[in-house]
Amino acid sequence: MEAKKTVLISGGAGYIGSHTAVELIGAGYDVVVIDNLSNSEEASVEGVRRITGRDIPFEIVDTCDMAALRSVFAKYDFDTVIHFAAFKAVGESVAEPLKYYANNLVSFMNIVEMMKEFGRPNVLFSSSATVYGDAETLPVTELTPRKPATSPYGNTKQMAEDILRDCCAAYAGLYGIALRYFNPVGAHPSALIGELPRGVPNNLVPFVTQTAAGVRECLSIFGDDYDTPDGTCLRDYIDIVDLACAHVAAVRRMTEGKMEGKFEIFNVGTGHPVSVLELVTTFEKVNGLKLNYRMAPRRAGDVPAVWADTSRANEVLGWKAECSLEDTLRSAWEWEKRVRGL
Ligand code: NAD
Ligand code: UDP
Repeated sequence: MEAKKTVLISGGAGYIGSHTAVELIGAGYDVVVIDNLSNSEEASVEGVRRITGRDIPFEIVDTCDMAALRSVFAKYDFDTVIHFAAFKAVGESVAEPLKYYANNLVSFMNIVEMMKEFGRPNVLFSSSATVYGDAETLPVTELTPRKPATSPYGNTKQMAEDILRDCCAAYAGLYGIALRYFNPVGAHPSALIGELPRGVPNNLVPFVTQTAAGVRECLSIFGDDYDTPDGTCLRDYIDIVDLACAHVAAVRRMTEGKMEGKFEIFNVGTGHPVSVLELVTTFEKVNGLKLNYRMAPRRAGDVPAVWADTSRANEVLGWKAECSLEDTLRSAWEWEKRVRGL
């Protein structure tokens, strides 16, 4: 029997979900998008429609609402769900842990419950490099031990990975993949979709682009006294389109029945560490502008360095990051300019 080619994308109006929808459609899949728009706008679904020329079904649904979710499962025929829907602000999760445990875990357990009830097999879960914490060896492989989470957000990622692993072991028809994203950055080359943080951005690249656009006065570089080549933190910045393509590769592996076990984990990064300062100077160079920045104290909870060993994703998924940091930072700026009407 031919594998069903429809994928349900929860949180599909968000940053990673919208780019993944574009790449899935480009690869021949149909998508259904659900989102409660708690951290996104319907305009991003419209952006996906414009890029792909396809009339994508979109429903405003809260994945914590089991009855609403059940209606979606009853209405659409799909074998695979990619579950992006979650809150993601680390600092806010420390201040409001219940908000994070409730949204991120209930929504995920509801998805798994519905998969079971409707006999749908494949769940792809958005995990994070945060599960590695301050790792003892770098780069991290999927076998590098996870460290106790330092925030409720990080804890929801660890718990959801475990929930998926246990459910896949227990339920005969259920298969899971967790993708551990490193630092997703950039925007679609069309500049029709991109990251749309609400309020003051927590993440580096949106803060950089908003500073360049004059929305923020000055970028603070959090810490220049780390034990790294230039004293600033090292991260693995993965282009958003490359990241979206990793989802297509994972979906293909699931829908074509190629998984080796019932639950698999993959790192999704470039495999290259980049310092905060290096990112800032690259942004300035490729976009031909000067950024107002200053050195500032370390930010609580930051690990000095983390980057991915991507061999497993390269070999098993047949996926590799291709976009250069330069092109990614150009796309991030093009998107910001479009958002600001510059
Ligand atoms: P995002 O906020 O842009 O997208 C998440 C989407 O989920 C939003 O559109 C939001 O409205 C929706 N949502 C949240 N709770 C919902 C609910 N209960 N019901 C329905 N929709 C809901 O974030 P993103 O950057 O696209 O992240 C997607 C996933 O990837 C999240 O699970 C996030 O934790 C994970 N992740 C993100 C990063 C990153 O740096 N962006 C890194 C690692 C992991
Ligand atoms: N960072 C910074 N200034 C900012 C935001 C982030 O110097 O305004 C640094 C942060 O300390 C970290 C890196 O940029 O070293 C990436 O931070 P981000 O929040 O984007 O991702 P994280 O790796 O923390 O998930």
